[in-house]
Amino acid sequence: MRAISILIVDDRPENLLTLEQVLESPTLNIVRANSGHEALEKTLDHEFALILLDVQMPVMDGYETATLLRGNKKTKNIPIIFVTAAHKEQSQVFLGYGSGAVDYLFKPLEPDVLTSKVKIFLELYRQRQLLEVKTRELDAKVMELETLKHELEESNEKLRKLSSLDGLTDLPNRRFFDETMTREWQRGTRHQKPLSLILADIDHFKAFNDAYGHVIGDDCLKKVAKGLVKSIFRDVDTIARYGGEEFAAILPETDKEGGVLIIQRMLDNIESLGIPHIASPAAKHVTVSFGLSTMVPSADVSPTQLIESADKALYLAKNSGRNTYTIS
Ligand code: GH3
Ligand code: MG
Ligand code: MG
Repeated sequence: MRAISILIVDDRPENLLTLEQVLESPTLNIVRANSGHEALEKTLDHEFALILLDVQMPVMDGYETATLLRGNKKTKNIPIIFVTAAHKEQSQVFLGYGSGAVDYLFKPLEPDVLTSKVKIFLELYRQRQLLEVKTRELDAKVMELETLKHELEESNEKLRKLSSLDGLTDLPNRRFFDETMTREWQRGTRHQKPLSLILADIDHFKAFNDAYGHVIGDDCLKKVAKGLVKSIFRDVDTIARYGGEEFAAILPETDKEGGVLIIQRMLDNIESLGIPHIASPAAKHVTVSFGLSTMVPSADVSPTQLIESADKALYLAKNSGRNTYTIS
């Protein structure tokens, strides 16, 4: 156990000696001061569990010293026991309590009384220290928990994102598409604004895979995904991977003309990619066909109808030579 320091203050060396002899213990570091000034000085470089303070001292008496100790942030909570010969007038005692005494001892000192009082204060000090250690440990644990909670929230967020993203293209996946479609359908129903849906399908992609292999096929899908994403500018628009080589764009508050504008941009961007496709009867490079449908959502129509309608338009685009779009 670390030694606990106590300060004994008395202007008479023989009194200090008596106190020291009575209190002497291997767990106690007894620091002496022979004046109020010296007592204050000693508090600068020690942490005291208790101060035994003589009341009658020249220059600065015990009450004054106690008042100064109480006025200092570092020392204001150190318990003080006044040691006094002159007494026992009530007013004197109250004066002591006013300046912060927690107890009195009267000279001549009774060794048993002295040691038992000191023992009580030292025990209180030890308990307070233990409490401080526990409080610090608890604070550290709380901080650790906060960090863990934060990490958990972050990994949940990551997981949530991962579960709604397509691993190959990094686009939102079919699940996210379905959720967004439901949400936008409800929103469109409330606001009575047109909702446009574009379905896009890479032309002759089976032949592409056969000609170049699956790895280059995957690479092509990634590039097409980027080309499509480049064609939309509004945050509310969603482009998802709808199936194998099929993509879908949900465009809230967008009418037919708006939808066509985006498809034209998509056609241009896919052409600019210039991915060679030697096996395509439609063009020398990879092309995409589009189907567009626009509806003002309502509660008695299901969003599936918008999807079916866009799918029909896509089928027609395929039948009219591909690398184009139709509207239904
Ligand atoms: P169409 O012009 O009528 O759309 O003809 P298509 O060949 O593109 O259509 P089809 O549905 O016959 O074939 C789609 C092909 O897309 C077949 C499949 O192997 C390929 N595909 C689907 N998903 C992936 C993928 O993740 N990676 C690769 N490399 N190919 C895929
Ligand atoms: Mg297909
Ligand atoms: Mg296809």
